[in-house]
Amino acid sequence: LIELRDVNKHYGPVHVLKDISLTVGRGEVVVVIGPSGSGKSTLCRTINRLEPVDSGTITLAGRPLPEEGRELARLRAEVGMVFQSFNLFAHKTVLANVSLAQIKVRGRGREEADRRSRELLERVGLLAHAEKYPAQLSGGQQQRVAIARALAMDPQALLFDEPTSALDPEMINEVLEVMRQLARDGMTMVVVTHEMGFARSAANRVVFMADGRIVEDRSPEEFFTAPESERARDFLSKIL
Ligand code: ATP
Ligand code: MG
Repeated sequence: LIELRDVNKHYGPVHVLKDISLTVGRGEVVVVIGPSGSGKSTLCRTINRLEPVDSGTITLAGRPLPEEGRELARLRAEVGMVFQSFNLFAHKTVLANVSLAQIKVRGRGREEADRRSRELLERVGLLAHAEKYPAQLSGGQQQRVAIARALAMDPQALLFDEPTSALDPEMINEVLEVMRQLARDGMTMVVVTHEMGFARSAANRVVFMADGRIVEDRSPEEFFTAPESERARDFLSKIL
């Protein structure tokens, strides 16, 4: 579904992504891990065209990513993104947060959008909170609203950039459980996370990045029991 081939990206003199080639099949869950500064967030942002690349190609369902304009807005709807900071609109209700882009980007009427929003809020366990404002919710609940909002675009894939890193420990699991359910339902997902339990239990593949390169791309069993590279062994010894 998502294919990157020989993607390179610089920030000024810094070579942030080096010859990245990565294929994510429909329904696959790919967990991306690696040390700070290795390029994980940049990788997510290039897939969503929040950042242009210097060379290489990225295709979605066999078609190159659009450069700009309406097509780009459509792409952002097709590939949803969930960030560490939930980025909800503080002055809008939970329901309005989930409905807004459906109306603006998908052209749905308010009633239809609200109906869909309620379905999705139920799915993430928050229907009872539909009329509240983000500040009245816990961090874990806000992140689940952000996931519902991304799902409301009927995306083909979802990108998660450290979705639980800003959360208190007791809220991490409720968000991971929603993500596990999405994975079971067949959603295509690229997940940057330090949650190794999630990587082991939900990922089809683990991609280990270091220094702007993909160093390993293997099944979680292989990666966690017998990492091939010194860098991955070193990384795992520090976090496990
Ligand atoms: P972390 O685990 O800390 O989130 P990361 O793997 O997500 O790290 P990136 O945020 O992708 O790493 O950053 C990769 C490199 O690119 C780093 O050296 C970073 O300093 C640099 N970088 C990222 N964004 C920018 C930017 N907007 N301008 C300049 N340099 C940037
Ligand atoms: Mg990052």
